[in-house]
Amino acid sequence: MLPFFPTPYPEELWYSVLCRYHLRTGNKKTSTTMKELFGKANASMNIFFANPGFYGVIDTLPNGLFDREELYDRHTLTPYVLRFSHDLRRTKTHQHIVWGAEEKEYTGSLKQWTSQDGGYLRFCPICAKRDLQTYGETYWHTPHQIQAMPLCPIHKCRLERADGAEMRTLRQKFYPASSIPNLKTTADCNVSEQEVKLSDMLYAFWNTPLVNDITSLPDSLFHLLQNKDIFLSGGIRWSGSRC
Ligand SMILES: [Zn+2]
Repeated sequence: MLPFFPTPYPEELWYSVLCRYHLRTGNKKTSTTMKELFGKANASMNIFFANPGFYGVIDTLPNGLFDREELYDRHTLTPYVLRFSHDLRRTKTHQHIVWGAEEKEYTGSLKQWTSQDGGYLRFCPICAKRDLQTYGETYWHTPHQIQAMPLCPIHKCRLERADGAEMRTLRQKFYPASSIPNLKTTADCNVSEQEVKLSDMLYAFWNTPLVNDITSLPDSLFHLLQNKDIFLSGGIRWSGSRC
């Protein structure tokens, strides 16, 4: 049983929660924390999808402390990436990540996201500043890691690449967002209208509940985008910069 565990912040990447746990343990070795969390010193973490699963960690915590479905939906990118996958693949991946069911075969979409070379975790300087003021620390925000997302969807400034947070080096490494060397970068608000539109659309997409009936998805997306003031009849409207 773990003696403590951080409560996830809003839209915090699950990997980020594990990083904050590692930070608070004071463990000098990554392998020590790995063993505490996953039962073995050489586990390999999937940064976006929470593989090897929540189960390794959550099973060591008091029953009912966390809602696994909530963690899956709001703290990993899995539902976002699998939205258009076949029902069976979505179900199997969900069962694997949330409940630890045996499932070796990831979908092509997940493989593409996991094998990106040269990819880095990203952050918004304004969100980071707000986090520090609110929580005393910052964290990795899940929507900031959506590959095509050019801007922070809240502040409309350019997302910054975190120095040293190269994806391919993180699978066996805890890199808390508070360790970003360029954290206090000034926000770059020199952005285009198209980038704002794209960010708004992707963020609306991220916030659209995952439905089993894929035929209803276009309608639900359209209504959500309408509510977000993104659609005009026959076009897309810029909702304006908040930077
Ligand atoms: Zn932001």
